[in-house]
This record gives sequence, C-alpha cells and structure tokens, in this order.
Amino acid sequence: MKYCRNLILGIFSMLTLFSCYGEEDSFAVPSIYKDYQQNPEGGESLTGYAVAPVKDAKYDDVLNELYISWDGSNSSWEKRDEYVGAEVEFYSLLSGKKVKRVMIPNIGDFGNLTVKKRDYNNEPSTLHLSKYRTVVVTDRYGVDELRFRSIYKDADGVQKMSDWVKLSDQNIEVDKNYLAWQFFKNNVVSPVQISFSTSSTKSTAAIVDLVGQGNEAKAKEEFQKWYYMDCAAMSFDPYNMAFDPYKNLDIHIADNVGVANAIDWPNHTTGRRINYEASVGNPNSDLWKLPDMQHVMMHEMGHCVEWMPKAGKYIKEGIQDCDRQGYQEGWPDAVKIASKGYILATQKAEYRSAIEKPYQNPQSDKYYVWQIDYNTSGAFMSWLRIYNGDFVRMMPWTVLMDDLTDKWSLEDAVKYTLRESYPNITIKELWDEYKTEVEAFLQNN
Ligand SMILES: [Zn+2]
Repeated sequence: MKYCRNLILGIFSMLTLFSCYGEEDSFAVPSIYKDYQQNPEGGESLTGYAVAPVKDAKYDDVLNELYISWDGSNSSWEKRDEYVGAEVEFYSLLSGKKVKRVMIPNIGDFGNLTVKKRDYNNEPSTLHLSKYRTVVVTDRYGVDELRFRSIYKDADGVQKMSDWVKLSDQNIEVDKNYLAWQFFKNNVVSPVQISFSTSSTKSTAAIVDLVGQGNEAKAKEEFQKWYYMDCAAMSFDPYNMAFDPYKNLDIHIADNVGVANAIDWPNHTTGRRINYEASVGNPNSDLWKLPDMQHVMMHEMGHCVEWMPKAGKYIKEGIQDCDRQGYQEGWPDAVKIASKGYILATQKAEYRSAIEKPYQNPQSDKYYVWQIDYNTSGAFMSWLRIYNGDFVRMMPWTVLMDDLTDKWSLEDAVKYTLRESYPNITIKELWDEYKTEVEAFLQNN
C-alpha cells in the first residue's frame, strides 16, 4: 500500500503558542500523576470543590467513544475558571479491566493552533478545542459504570479534586445512539462524490455486486459511509477537519497493484483515486470479501487525507525514517482500527506477533517496536485513546507543530499530548502497559 509522495508535500504556517517542548522543568504543571498514585481509592473530599456540571454526554458505538461536555457557560458553576480536567474511571476496551485515567485537555497548544492547509489557496484552519471536553473510550457497559471527579487548579496553581461521582447519577441523559460519522455526513458542506472505474478485465459491477448487492447507488452510499467513518475518527467536528476536504473519490480496479494505493486524481485539489487490486487470477482473494475490502479501503482513505511530518527523529542506518514510515502506514490503520476496522482473520495473530517482538530493534529497519508500520503502530495509536479519547485526532496536528514536525516521532507526540495529564510517563511504560492489555485481550477472545 505504497503512498504517493506528492500527496504529502506542502508548506504549513502555524501559530505556536508554545516553544520549549522537551524542557519539562519549565512547565508549571502540577504533578497530577503523583497524586493519582497516592490516592488510588478515590481522593479526599475538599470543601468548595463540587464536581463539574455535565452539559451533555453522548456515546458512539462505532468508535466506542463517550463524549462528555462540561458546562463551561454555566454561571452558577463558580469553579468553572479553575476547572482543568477530569479523572475518569471506566472499563478498558481491550482488556475489559477497570482503569483510571487523568484527562486534562492540552488546549494551551492544541486549542488555538492555526495551520494553513497544504494547498496554498486553502483557508487556514484553526483548532478550537475546549477544555470542557473529555472523550473516554469504553464499551456501553463502561458508560453506565463510568465514574469521574473534577480537577481544579486554584490561583496558586495548587490542584484540588472533587469527590468521585457516577455519570449515571448525574441529572443528564446519555444519548447512546449518537453516530459521529452520521453527524459528519449531515454537516459536511460538500459531500464526497464516489465513482467507480476499471482498467482491468474485472468490471466495476464486481464492486457494485459485493458492496451494493447489485445496486450502484447503494454501493456508492456505502463507500461514502466508510469515508465518513474515517472522517469521524480523525476530526473533532465537521469544522475542525484535520485534513484537506476533497470532493471526488474514484475507486479504480486495476491489475498488478498488489493490494491498494492512493493517488491524486485527476489532480491534487480536485480529488483522489484508490487503485484496488483486481485479483483476476485469484477469485477467492480476501480483497474481494467483506469486511476486509472495507478495511483496506478505509486505510487508503486515511492516506487520501493524511498530513505527514517533514522528517522523523530516528533514521535507521541512514535509509529508513522509522517515524515517518510508522506514522504514514500506522495512522491510517489507527483511524481504521478505532472504527473496529481490522482484517478480522488476522487480528489476533497481528496482536500476538506485535507484543512478542523485542522493544528495541524489533526488526532490521526499526529502532522501536511501536515504529513498525501498519497494524503494529496503528493498533498502539488507537489504544492510546485510553489516555485521551482524542489521541488519534490530535496526531495530525502534532505533525504540523513547529516543535515537533522537523523531527517528529510518535514518542514525542505522545509526551506532548499527555504532558499535562502524565508529565513523567514514558513511551516504554505505555508500551509495557499496552502489552499487558493485549495479553488480557488474547486470553478473553
Ligand atoms: Zn498504506
């Protein structure tokens, strides 16, 4: 699934509110992680610190994402200016175990980041992230069981906690029928136009038959849905799209593609084409089954809209830019996996082989195991949503930050994103925890 180089070239101008990444001591960040360690059973009750009022909560069953908005506009909430985030207790999607996470939105950097998209004539895009938003990845049962406490910071920067409360005890009804992709579809200004074409002896009817049961309009609608599923996993809302929107997407059947690839078509500003292997000599190919075709298409759709860092931090033996490669092929898989999109037949084997590899030098062209492209880096990135439900959405923005983009690495992007919640956490610790979670998943499934 080779990615067309000219999709990723561009110049970005951006507003960087923050210029000292890497110098942790220069941040006046309270040690929330330390507090979390010392008070695992629920924290003390502090007079005057009531839990933040919930404005609304909705759950997307496709992405397994619970979106909670705190009522920052509520003037009767006296502590709203002191609010910094929440600590949340919920069931982990992968292991099924109950976990606690501090979630402080990194809005100082992400909240007002303005980037000029890679086409010069595109309008600059500003990310308006709110500190009153928390996204938790869990299952439906986890939504009912979720507990939280609010984190406040007083005038002296001292951190205060409210008591723990259950979301289900709050005076709010959680909308459990929310679908982010449907919301995106309903709100997007220019819907993507799908077309089918072929340069193979295999006709476009093969796609229409498989995806639309013989109905072309139905097949196109399904491709639109897959595209909007990607959009929902990569965008904060339709007006904070973390990519260049485009109007046309041609699904092109061709011989000798291998698997699939994405290119500009007919040119960069007007659209994209996904070349898809015809597999004429192999009629039983998994590429021509569902949901496998959907998952390959969703990976390629990720490429169609991907932003890339200029260069990675680790370059192996002067040839392989481990970070760029891990991101280029990992992020589209993270977007796909977040929507439960895995090549199902190989999912468990992929997980198993990833965690069996050594952390360092897992293969000749990689320094670290989380740099292994496709499912390995992608599944890890998707799992990192356990620390911040918006993690996959924030990644494209990290590659556009001056501090990170010249020598981008997943390691630095993770530290940057979690800086306020877990200032001392390392990617090695995260990988070790991920391994434990994967092992539990493999035992349970
Ligand atoms: Zn790819």
